[in-house]
Amino acid sequence: MEVSEANDDSFGIEVIPAEDGKPAPCCPHGPTLLFEKVGKGGENGRRFYACSACRDRKYCNFFQWEEEKVSEVRLLAREAENQSKRPVFTQQENCSRFRKFSSLPLDEKKFCQDCQMLLLPGEHGAHSSHRTTAVSTDQLRRPSVLLRPLDNKKSNAQYLFTDRSSHFLLDTLAGLGYKKVLCVGTPRLQELIKLRNLEQKHEPMKSLLLDIDFRYTQFYSQDEFCHYNMFNHHFFDGEASGAVLQAFLTECDGQKVVMVADPPFGGLVKPLASSFSLISHTWRKLQSSGECHDCSNTDIPMMWIFPYFFEPRILECLPSCTMLDYQVDYDNHPMYKHGKTGRKQSPVRLFTNISPRDVVLPKDEGYRFCSVCQRFVLSLNKHCAKCNVCPSKDGREWKHCSMCEKCVKPSWRHCQRCGRCALPDHPCGQGEGQEGCFNCGSLEHKRKACPLKDTHRISHRSNAKSGGKRVSHRPLLKPKAKRKSGAARRAKKLAALSK
Ligand code: SAH
Ligand code: ZN
Ligand code: ZN
Ligand code: ZN
Ligand code: ZN
Repeated sequence: MEVSEANDDSFGIEVIPAEDGKPAPCCPHGPTLLFEKVGKGGENGRRFYACSACRDRKYCNFFQWEEEKVSEVRLLAREAENQSKRPVFTQQENCSRFRKFSSLPLDEKKFCQDCQMLLLPGEHGAHSSHRTTAVSTDQLRRPSVLLRPLDNKKSNAQYLFTDRSSHFLLDTLAGLGYKKVLCVGTPRLQELIKLRNLEQKHEPMKSLLLDIDFRYTQFYSQDEFCHYNMFNHHFFDGEASGAVLQAFLTECDGQKVVMVADPPFGGLVKPLASSFSLISHTWRKLQSSGECHDCSNTDIPMMWIFPYFFEPRILECLPSCTMLDYQVDYDNHPMYKHGKTGRKQSPVRLFTNISPRDVVLPKDEGYRFCSVCQRFVLSLNKHCAKCNVCPSKDGREWKHCSMCEKCVKPSWRHCQRCGRCALPDHPCGQGEGQEGCFNCGSLEHKRKACPLKDTHRISHRSNAKSGGKRVSHRPLLKPKAKRKSGAARRAKKLAALSK
């Protein structure tokens, strides 16, 4: 059975939290996750283990039923397969290669585009039939430009920040006094931090990149990069990387740490949130012995970059976060370009547990401060006196519906028959048919027209209560929710989707 097929004919797939004492089998990407198929009628299906990082069988075809007995022979084959997927060079080897490479004369510095690697002189021959380019000193400092962005759409597409967005992030964090940035899936941010340090105009900042893209080990030392899977908090180099992370998270001499994560879009919010809460937990333990006594129940300051329609799900997992109006945009994603009115706007936002009033959004890009909400919002996001919030999520001006008693998208009309606001051409009166887009959950389009169709399937859709609860000083993860009956869960899901 294929995981992707399972998705297609079912309502969705949920991730089941790991139970202690029941270790998950491993694929080349570390421990797998336990999934459960939720059928059309809402009944729970069989559970199975599948890869945490790749939702496309093409990239990792691990599959095992929860109760399946796996033969010794298959276990050995699996182990061999996992070993064979290890990178050719270890991180240590890559570090010494980088040192050698850096000291080469300019005309011997070559990068193989086909193999995506820096070549040492002895290797030029073996790559002579490949496309190679010269590498200047400046290019060596910008690996995210040199490397071809991964475009394996279903699981690991790399969307790189525009200069506008990466500078905004860095200036904001520096302005807030952070001295160390834990870059989780943000190679371009790490690169910018290092470039900024070279300018010597500012107090230097430290950064550590955690990413599954091993190509980056060619450019960074062991205390700047850890090969990491953010869906299962797995360090491919085990304890050595764990120690690097611990050292980085230790705040000595008042060097405040902040985490910035830009995971691949496409769901798995729960596993991401649990990885981030483990990072937070590690951070908290390291600080408690130090000067900071009142941070025993606070979380590591963080920015999680994700599309706005995940807000309910993210807030369900991380109740101390708020979604900011800032629109993050990307160089190599045609959809996610910065746009003012009329043009396509990026749906990608910042979710943060930093106080929203401290994150100043640029006025010249159309943001203003709402003194009631105490946060910066897009100018078009007008404060609604009745809802007492600036309600817009998508960058357009929303309007208040007195029947629904909330603000809704400008394109929606109140439908008497459905008793709620919806698009004028919604499937009227068919409560059951209103599942919206199977990919992202939006009611505005079907899966075929989903702007996120090419990213991997958003599987376990929200059963979150919406609404911007903003309670700080709470643990990142709420205790495991009570199990509801299939029907109740489904009803709740639909209710959440029809917001
Ligand atoms: N906007 C960012 C890049 C985001 S793209 C920037 O400009 O720096 C998503 C990033 O997450 C990529 O760098 C990708 O390699 C990484 N990634 C994808 N899947 C991952 C996983 N399972 N674990 C860790 N990192 C992952
Ligand atoms: Zn895998
Ligand atoms: Zn407001
Ligand atoms: Zn309103
Ligand atoms: Zn209405």
